[in-house]
Amino acid sequence: MNSEWLENEIQTEIFRWKRDHGNMDFWRRPLVGIASASDPLIGGLKLVVDSEHATAFDILTSARSVIVFFLPFQRWIGGKNDRSGTYAARIWAESYVASNQLIAAINLHLKQCLESAGFEASTTPATHNFDEKKLVSRWSHKHLAYIAGLGKFGSHHLLITQAGCCGRLGSLVTTMELPPSIRSQEELCLAKRGFNCSACISKCTCGALQENIFDRRACYRQCLLNDAHYSDLPLVDVCGKCSCNVPCSYGIPVPLSGRTGGAITGT
Ligand code: SF4
Ligand code: SF4
Repeated sequence: MNSEWLENEIQTEIFRWKRDHGNMDFWRRPLVGIASASDPLIGGLKLVVDSEHATAFDILTSARSVIVFFLPFQRWIGGKNDRSGTYAARIWAESYVASNQLIAAINLHLKQCLESAGFEASTTPATHNFDEKKLVSRWSHKHLAYIAGLGKFGSHHLLITQAGCCGRLGSLVTTMELPPSIRSQEELCLAKRGFNCSACISKCTCGALQENIFDRRACYRQCLLNDAHYSDLPLVDVCGKCSCNVPCSYGIPVPLSGRTGGAITGT
């Protein structure tokens, strides 16, 4: 078993889930990263994220590997969210609910695969595993995704993967020893590479994201406004404007001109 096998199993589960749920077509091909459960960076998340951040061994005592997967959204979902004004687009909120359900189904499927191969696995919820006062996660999928080599952080504090930043992450822990993915040292965010880009900042109309500032409380307030706006849906504390139709939304951002700025696009 390796990340390619995991990607294929996830893809199979996505097809099955879509077939059973009215063929909702929200996602592109998934990406998978693997980290060793004993990677010191995971323990370091107690310093980087929060002192109560879990280790892989808190999730599963005899853990060997952490599997993290990314479900990139279709471009049209990001496009609709980009054009929907102050509130998130309804389809963005609906795709969030569907993604959380799909992530639970993928986790269950992978757990069954691993168990049938003789290993243990423990799944983690897609969301709402955070401290509601401090607004920090006790199992940060995006930090684990970074450790598992899935990408690098952008100025918007989201992870930029080969398939961009617009999507959802899930993870599980297993006793199976899997080969860890290689972490690239190379920055992917244009601003971090020295190009002029502040597209994500200009998308954030509530001021939560500013140059060198991320006000997580202001961001969460905006997310709760969206939840109240779509009160007929399950909890949808989402916004995501800073991840939609920016150069890093759907792929690794490519500068089209020199380091003085200019038009830029995603691959
Ligand atoms: S929009 Fe530009 S500055 Fe913001 S994270 Fe993406 S590449 Fe970086
Ligand atoms: S999710 Fe919304 S409120 Fe939060 S930083 Fe991004 S654009 Fe701003």
